[in-house]
Amino acid sequence: MTAHELAIVPEGAIADLLTREAAFTAVENVFAAMSRGEARNFPVVREAMPTEDALYGFKGGVAPGVLGLKAGGYWPHNLEKRELINHQSTVFLFDPDTGRVKAMVGGNYLTALRTAAASAVSIKHLARPEAKILGMIGAGHQAKFQLRAALEQRSFEKVIAWNLHPEMLPGLGEVAAEIGVPFEAVDLPGMVEADVIVTITSSFAPTLMADHVSPGTHIACMGTDTIGKQEVEASLLAKATVFCDEVAQSVTLGEAQHAIGAGLISEADLSEIGAVINGTHPGRTSDDQITLFDGTGVGLQDLAVASTIVDVAVANGTAIMVPI
Ligand code: NAD
Repeated sequence: MTAHELAIVPEGAIADLLTREAAFTAVENVFAAMSRGEARNFPVVREAMPTEDALYGFKGGVAPGVLGLKAGGYWPHNLEKRELINHQSTVFLFDPDTGRVKAMVGGNYLTALRTAAASAVSIKHLARPEAKILGMIGAGHQAKFQLRAALEQRSFEKVIAWNLHPEMLPGLGEVAAEIGVPFEAVDLPGMVEADVIVTITSSFAPTLMADHVSPGTHIACMGTDTIGKQEVEASLLAKATVFCDEVAQSVTLGEAQHAIGAGLISEADLSEIGAVINGTHPGRTSDDQITLFDGTGVGLQDLAVASTIVDVAVANGTAIMVPI
């Protein structure tokens, strides 16, 4: 494409253009680049809107060859009033050498895959190789994506799951059944069986407690992406070796906000997953160590994945090219 064209990739085209593998690779690479200091996220803007009880914001960043932002948020009445999904976002990419707009990419499905990729990257690099039981806490929209991506990382033999609203669990069970892995609903103490636990809820109070977790477990905390949200007991972070996507986000709006606020850990106790990917941090060093990944969701995940989508969409003619 030239500097005089804008590529538009509509939301409806993304599912055919983006594979889980491509999202995983883009996210793993951008985490690594962040940790090498070659890529950085800009401060997040998130504002309450004057109408529709909506929250709207921007997550931007810059990486080699990639500059842009994801604009979007949450409109709680969309579904009931207009039959539109409540989470809405769009990614805008710019040419880092000229500032010219390059692409506009639907951000909804992309967000689901890049979030699933983040917990999968943490499982790849931090879970014990022989992990067999995957625990899921949460059964909403995003949980199904996290489950599919997680199951690809180890030879899991069973999925155990808990959700505050148990009537949602069969939907998650259908995903496990489709993949051919046995699925069982458990109570929270039942999570002691799990080798890997993924939390993906919109909870504002901890549900997974420190005594629900066995030595050697890897936990990917993915639901806490806002000040005030919390999924796991703060003391669990003090028992664990804690990793995150980005320290600045983890301490302010991630799971670590609570453990740090309570004085149980300090910012210096957090390591970026990118350092493990790059080999500058050893990651897990023993079989009985608890590792915890605080995945808050950074703008560069969106930009890296959107950039991959644009390359494919332009190459195969799916992108709508608009002269500018
Ligand atoms: P959803 O509304 O589809 O599902 C919400 C889930 O949370 C359901 O399992 C529900 O039963 C559970 N839940 C609701 N209230 C709860 C409570 N008080 N205590 C415990 N569980 C509760 O939402 P979703 O799209 O699946 O997203 C789940 C969470 O993940 C949200 O907090 C969302 O903001 C977050 N998220 C994070 C990232 C990231 O990059 N880290 C990306 C996308 C979404």
